[in-house]
Amino acid sequence: MSTPYHVPALSVAPGKRFIPCYSPGELEERQLAGVRWTLAHALTGSPQYRAKLGDAHPGDIRTLDDVRKLPFTTTEDLRAGYPLPLLSVPDTEVLRVHASSGTTGKRKVLAYTRNDIDTFAFQMARCYELAGLTPADRMQVAVGYGLWTAGAGFQLGCEKFGALTIPVGPGNLDIHLQLLQDFGTTCIGCTASMALLMGEEVERHGLLKNLKLKRAIFGAEASSAKMRAAITEKLGLEHCFDIGGMTEMYGPGTAIDCEAHEGLHYWADLFYMEIIDPETLEPVRPGEIGEMVVTSLRKEAAPLIRYRTRDLSRFIPGECPCGCTMPRHDRLLGRSDDMIIFRGVNIYPGQICDVIQHYPELGGEYHIELTREGARDFMLLKLERGANVSADGDDALAGRFAEELHKALLARAAVEIVDPGKLPRSFGKSKRVTDLRLD
Ligand SMILES: [Zn+2]
Repeated sequence: MSTPYHVPALSVAPGKRFIPCYSPGELEERQLAGVRWTLAHALTGSPQYRAKLGDAHPGDIRTLDDVRKLPFTTTEDLRAGYPLPLLSVPDTEVLRVHASSGTTGKRKVLAYTRNDIDTFAFQMARCYELAGLTPADRMQVAVGYGLWTAGAGFQLGCEKFGALTIPVGPGNLDIHLQLLQDFGTTCIGCTASMALLMGEEVERHGLLKNLKLKRAIFGAEASSAKMRAAITEKLGLEHCFDIGGMTEMYGPGTAIDCEAHEGLHYWADLFYMEIIDPETLEPVRPGEIGEMVVTSLRKEAAPLIRYRTRDLSRFIPGECPCGCTMPRHDRLLGRSDDMIIFRGVNIYPGQICDVIQHYPELGGEYHIELTREGARDFMLLKLERGANVSADGDDALAGRFAEELHKALLARAAVEIVDPGKLPRSFGKSKRVTDLRLD
């Protein structure tokens, strides 16, 4: 069904093949048009959105600040509409579905029209261009294919971009190493932990001289500076990039860092982003950490209106030295469900990880215990000492760490250094916080 609202065609900057270049005013115009179109489209096509949006009208969105008048969409809405949540087109127009690896209950499934698949490919092709690839590159894909968006996105985008794709999927380290050598692969898409494993194998078997790898694109998990340095060395890379993405917003490729590596450029003509305080639901101050909330600007099958991603990040202000005008956000700093409120300050485990990165004497594992005495909260932070580091310096190290943490978080914690391997290991959902304040 058509509405009087339209979204402008995607624009490409002079000298680029996929990446756009807008003045701030132009970008805002496009975002406004996209929000109005999305609202009209959702109201026309989706009974689920009609019930949710009440008497909202596209004409009420006069500035981007007006987006805040709209209600949030959440993962509960995705589950409620299973198997085709938020569907805003006739189901005969749905060409494809993908799902996220949701942890409990029904998976989050998202539908795609033909145009959605094309935008998805475009989104990824832009990422390859920003990562400095050319059609002469050879891209080996080591992320999951199937129901997940990762493999599909890397593949679609690469074909759109015009480079050779070698679709291997995750695991199969031996096959990967073989193909890296046989095809002269120049770029690999994988998780950072897989790249590290690969790098260790390459080192063990002395294969570096047979490789032509130059770049790696890491999806799914945020990589630490320590990890990236190790991977770069072991695989002989020039650059590694973190790519952002979510199934709700087509899949991978919503954002990627450029060669300046000062944050991830995100495609603000494909979605409008707000960053909110997950407690108050109000926008955070510029540069502060909060939850990313996205409104899609041209998604047809399952548009997003103020979708709460639960992912934490912050806007990075200013212009990027690379010249790309697309705005930037920081890498992911955790999940809003993991947020702690301590003495009135919002604290995210990702901020503690950031401080740990500055200390080569530390192993990286940590645990937070929160207690309450009277009306006052206390935090005990346990950190694992690095392997082969003497315990003699523990007290001084704890003191220095507590000072730096105070500067970074504006909160005081007691710091204790413990032996390597002492803290519980957890995979998946973080078990790094024990909150005893209500006991
Ligand atoms: Zn840049």
